[in-house]
Amino acid sequence: MSKRIDKVLIEQPEVEAFVKRIAADINRDYAGKKVMLICVLKGAFIFLADLVRELEIECEVDFMAVSSYEGEHSTGVVRILKDLDSDISGKHVIIVEDIVDTGLTLDHLTSLLWTRNPASIKVCTAFDKPSRRKIDCTVDYIGRSIPDEFIVGYGLDYNQYFRNIPFVAVLADDAEETDE
Ligand code: 5GP
Repeated sequence: MSKRIDKVLIEQPEVEAFVKRIAADINRDYAGKKVMLICVLKGAFIFLADLVRELEIECEVDFMAVSSYEGEHSTGVVRILKDLDSDISGKHVIIVEDIVDTGLTLDHLTSLLWTRNPASIKVCTAFDKPSRRKIDCTVDYIGRSIPDEFIVGYGLDYNQYFRNIPFVAVLADDAEETDE
């Protein structure tokens, strides 16, 4: 059984515009500094790729993989599947997330990264679902806040599919699933 797209929530031009806006903010905030961008795999890979190409400051990129979701549901347990390759001590870190939902993943990650003595940590997310927050966490750069809906596209998946669609969509309810 496969899911199908029910509606487009955010069109591609709007995504492109918020990437440019966030990059301009980062270029301004970190002018004259070097940053270490930490891409949280897999969902943030497209956002990271778009964002770095708009940055004019010097930046390094590293990747971390964490898992908290199965299908549409949080397991409540955050597992580190792939750790960073580099040492972040003394560096200005920006965590690049696909979406902040309950905030549990971000809270866990931020606490972990602080133990490695970076100079600073800021958080950048493509999408934010503030109504779902279970834990207070600071998000410094937000592409677009969205209502409480499960989204796919622009790197975000449903069971590993739909990451490649260039806009953001909402899937149809289970009752409307199709075998096609
Ligand atoms: P949190 O720990 O904030 O509840 O969840 C963060 C992670 O859950 C995100 O990095 C993302 O992988 C996944 N997630 C949360 N909401 C959505 C959503 O609407 N769509 C998709 N595809 N993943 C989501």
